[in-house]
This record gives sequence, structure tokens and C-alpha cells, in this order.
Amino acid sequence: MTNDVSFAAPSPGPSAPLTSAPLTSPAVPQPEQRRILRTALPGPRSRQLQRRRDAALPNGLGVTLPVFVERAGGGVLVDVDGNHLIDFASGIAVTSVGASAPAVVTRVREQAARFTHTCFLVTEYDGYVEVAERLNALTPGDHPKRTALFSTGAEAVENAVKIARAATGRPGVVVFDHAYHGRSMMTLAMTAKEVPYKSGFGPFPGEVHRAPYACPLRGPGGPGGVAEQALAALRELLERVGADTVAAVVVEPLQGEGGFVVPAPGFLAGVERIAREHGIVLVADEVQAGMGRTGTVFASEHEGIVPDLVCTAKALGGGLPLAAVTGRAELMDAVAPGGLGGTYAGNPVACAAALGVLEMLADGTLLHRARRIERTVREQLEPLAAELPAVAEVRGRGAMMAVEFVRPGSLEPDAELARAVAARCHAEGVLTLVCGTYGNVIRLLPPLVIPEDLLREGLDVLAASIRSAS
Ligand SMILES: *Cc1c(COP(=O)(O)O)cnc(C)c1O
Repeated sequence: MTNDVSFAAPSPGPSAPLTSAPLTSPAVPQPEQRRILRTALPGPRSRQLQRRRDAALPNGLGVTLPVFVERAGGGVLVDVDGNHLIDFASGIAVTSVGASAPAVVTRVREQAARFTHTCFLVTEYDGYVEVAERLNALTPGDHPKRTALFSTGAEAVENAVKIARAATGRPGVVVFDHAYHGRSMMTLAMTAKEVPYKSGFGPFPGEVHRAPYACPLRGPGGPGGVAEQALAALRELLERVGADTVAAVVVEPLQGEGGFVVPAPGFLAGVERIAREHGIVLVADEVQAGMGRTGTVFASEHEGIVPDLVCTAKALGGGLPLAAVTGRAELMDAVAPGGLGGTYAGNPVACAAALGVLEMLADGTLLHRARRIERTVREQLEPLAAELPAVAEVRGRGAMMAVEFVRPGSLEPDAELARAVAARCHAEGVLTLVCGTYGNVIRLLPPLVIPEDLLREGLDVLAASIRSAS
């Protein structure tokens, strides 16, 4: 039925067959894959544009590095002053296949020339169906599935909540400490961090309950280990609020904005077990960690959990806005016709881009590449954790790696140091992002297609920045 895909059968495993998705194409020239600094950063043309930006845009829009990009691709961003920066951000885990991958660009051009929009709720097109079929086949579990498309990660998470509520007739939603689920009102209620995301924007929708996440570094500690303690707290929470009032447990299988926290082993499987016991819908928010980022297509695969609903976005659209909820057919079909959708949801140009991403992913080399990136990052950064007391941990999976900074001899977060390290990297032309509930984590999200030598050069700059700042 839904698994009847029309090209190269996708396989989530590392041994997926190789197909021939083009990584280079004369029609889509890639910027030179080299770090080149022609000016101090930001350069004069970026500074000039920044003045216009400051006069025209509100304060609430922050920026990590105020350079204006002219072109990008592979592992490089080229700014308007001709500087080539090493990209360790991928536009926040979006351009995993590169910011101008031929497999994406050629499909986008072709689709845009045919038509840009119909609204899928008005008249339909096959790209939407094909993306849905591929996600139904790729997501964990071989039960019958359905996929609905949206435009943003927040929208996908909101719709997963709507679907879970419609299917169960229950109102409650359980989320976790350090969680990030988006910036819409419902997803802000689900997001943990107050400043800058939530403060001043409330009140938020109710019926959102928060349980501890099993953070190996920060607990919860106690007998039996971190996973055991976190699961006990989840059970206690469900008892307190009444498990039969809870529609969904929404969990990031590897936390993103919250600090790239890999949950203690056994935690995800325990959450799955508890959800099943109580007829609660298990929703995996794979918006950041999914689509090959962690070395498997979905981060849920690392613990073999089979979520009832999976939310994807970010890397799915290869830079175009596309998000999805994929899940058990009987849950997805619980919403009556007209209950799901949106004007732009599943836009045809974004679907064309996603088919390029999905084709590249089916190839298997990108998953291999993500695991290779992890090895290189560990090889270059783990010695720092042994050497410098300010480096608490190098952690992550695949191409989703992070370094956490603390005051030496304690677990007290050192956000100032993380900011100083990022600033040094930026000055040297290496774009890094800070994350974490306490703002003390540098996260690395290079495009999966970054050349190995560029990755190593960027990591050298990062390591030198950590040494000189700490
Ligand atoms: C980014 C993110 C979201 C929100 O996605 P948007 O496209 O920004 O709305 C939701 N969940 C996770 C885990 C994310 O990283």
C-alpha cells in the first residue's frame, strides 16, 4: 500500500545500497572548498548591510555571526566580502546535504518552472505523495503508516499533538527538561528554556507536564542510574496527573537546543514502555536529529524504539521549508477530513527539494559520512576533555556533536567561555553555534558533505580557540 515507492527502495540501515545521486554537477557550481579570509569579520560590505538591517528589522531577531552570505555549498559559506567560512552550523541542521546540492537544486528549478503552488488541499500533485511514501518507508517500524506534510518543525509538533489528542480523546502532553519544540504558542509551552524563547510571551496553553530527561552529565542522579531515576520520575508524574489524561509523550531522541544531550542508555526504551503501558502516544521529535544527522536516518534507531508518531523538518527540505508528521495509520486517520493541513503545507517546490534529499540519503554514503564525522570530532576534541578541566564533555552522535564548558572542578556551567570560544572561531572564519539550557555548549552541525580536510581544519581552529580561551 503506502510503501509502493517509485525509485530506489530506501533503507534506514547503514548497509543501504548505493545509488548515483550526484554530489557535483557542472550545472550547479560549488564554491571553492577552502577557508579564505579576505577581510576581518564581518567585512565592510556585511557591516554596511548590517546597518540597513538594524534600521529595518526588529531587535527580537538575533544573529550568531552578522555576515551576509552570497553563496554556499559543501562545507563553505561565502560572504559578500569574498570570505569563505567553514560551516559548522548548516543553517541549524538544515543543509545536511549542502546548501546548493545538485540533487536538490536541479529538482527545485524544474519544479518551480512547472508550478510553484496549488495548495494541496485544493488540487494535488505527485511530489507530496512521493515524499509521504518515502517517509512511511524510512521511519522506524513496518506497521501501516501515513504522512502529513507541513512547513515548519513547530507546525509538525503542534499537529502531532492535535493528532494524538484526536486519537486518544485525552488532553495532556508530557515533555522533558531542556526540551525544545519550537516557537509557536503550544510548542513554547512544550519548550523548556525561558530566556529568550518564552519570557514575556505567556500565558501558554495548559495541560503540558514536564519530566526530567536522562542527562548522563547532570542527572537526575540516585540509585540505579540516571535512566532509572528519570523513568521513576516519569512514572511518578503520570501517577500525579493521571496517566489516562495524557494523550502524548513528546521526546527528542537526542536533544538539540537543550544541549545535544544523548540520553542515558535505556531511557528512550523505558519511555516507550511506559507510554505503551498507558495507551499514551509516543511522539519522537526528530526535527533536528533526524534525516541522517546522527549516522542513522532517525536518532530513534540508536535505541531501537518505534515511535507512534515521528516529527521531521529541518534537513528534510534541504533548505526549503518542509516538515512532516509520520505515524501509525490508525492514529493519523483519527482526524476527520479538513482537520489537518495549511495553505503552504507540503509546497511542491519544497517536496521536490525533499525528494533530492531523500534520494541522497537512500544512498547510504551520507550516513557513513555522519559516523565518520563523529570519529574525526572525537579524535580531535576528546583529548581536550582530558587535558582541560573547563571541558566537561565531548558528546553527541554522528554529525551532531558538542562540547560542554564548566568552571573547573565543578559542574557549574560556563556560558561566558562558550561564547568566547565561539567568538574566536568566528573571527577565524569557522561558524559555530552555542546551545544548551545554560548556554555553555558549543554544538557542531557541519553539512554531512563537508570535505574531510575542511572538517579537520575547522576542528583545529576550534581546538586552538578552546585552548586559548580557557
Ligand atoms: C528546530 C526545532 C523545532 C522547531 O522547528 P522550526 O522549523 O524552527 O519551527 C522543533 N523541535 C526540534 C527538536 C528542533 O530542533
